[in-house]
Formats: sequence, C-alpha cells, structure tokens
Amino acid sequence: MSSPTRPKSKSGQPDGRAVMARGVNRDRPFTWVPYRLSNCASCKATCCTFPVEVSLPDLFRLGVTTEDEASFDLPTLVKRLKKAGIIQKFTPKTGIFVLTQKNGDDCFYLDSKTRLCTVYEQRPKVCRGFPETVGSRTGYCPYIPKSK
Ligand code: SF4
Repeated sequence: MSSPTRPKSKSGQPDGRAVMARGVNRDRPFTWVPYRLSNCASCKATCCTFPVEVSLPDLFRLGVTTEDEASFDLPTLVKRLKKAGIIQKFTPKTGIFVLTQKNGDDCFYLDSKTRLCTVYEQRPKVCRGFPETVGSRTGYCPYIPKSK
C-alpha cells in the first residue's frame, strides 16, 4: 500500500489536509482532469478548499487592510486579521498570509451553499492564476461536480 501524498496549498506548497473523492482526488494531481472554464459552473469548488496563500497587495485589494496600516505596524495587523478570523497564519520570513479555512477546508470567502466566491472581482492573485499558471499540475484541475 502506498503512503498518502502530502496535500498542498493552492499555489502548490505542502499542507496537512486531504479531501478524497471518487475518481478525482484533490491531493493527487495525477487524477485531475484537463481544465475547462465551462466546468466551473457545475463544480463544487474543490480548488477553493486548498489553503490560500496571499500577500499584502491581495489583502489591500480585498479591502481588509491598507498600505498605511501594514507599513505602520505589521505584527498588530497580523493579530487583528487573526482575531477577525480572516487569516490563520502569517510567515514573516516570506510575507505570506494564509486565509482562514472554515467548515473543514473551505476558503474564508467561499459561500458554502452556492460554492461560489463571494469576492470574485477582488480575489487573490493565486486564485486568478489557478490552474492555468499556478498549482501542482498546471492546465489540470480537481473538478468534482456539485452532485457528488
Ligand atoms: S478567494 Fe474566492 S476564488 Fe479564491 S479560494 Fe477563496 S473562494 Fe475561491
């Protein structure tokens, strides 16, 4: 029996969670299907269950902080965003934040009923690139229909 692969974030970095499904396995990119934009309307938004890594420009665009606040006192900003439940992690060395995941793995900004992004126009850069230019297997996605 093979050992499970280590799950990765939306950008392809390692994470510690797993979502299993018949056929497509989120955490095993070799099971993913060729990406088609038309699939998104019927997908349960599996890609929005990866940990989402964002940078300050993403947080500015999302409107959860400002350049002034970030440059004035970054540690206090990190504490505030954690307390507000928006981020779950910050790595000072890389300047990367990880958005909070709710209901298991769902992105903080994913509507759990509609499975749609609630901040689509302001979504982070990593979400704009996935899966065409970002991810463990570019050009392929973990498509799982809403009916499953
Ligand atoms: S910000 Fe929107 S597109 Fe990006 S993972 Fe969250 S719900 Fe999905």
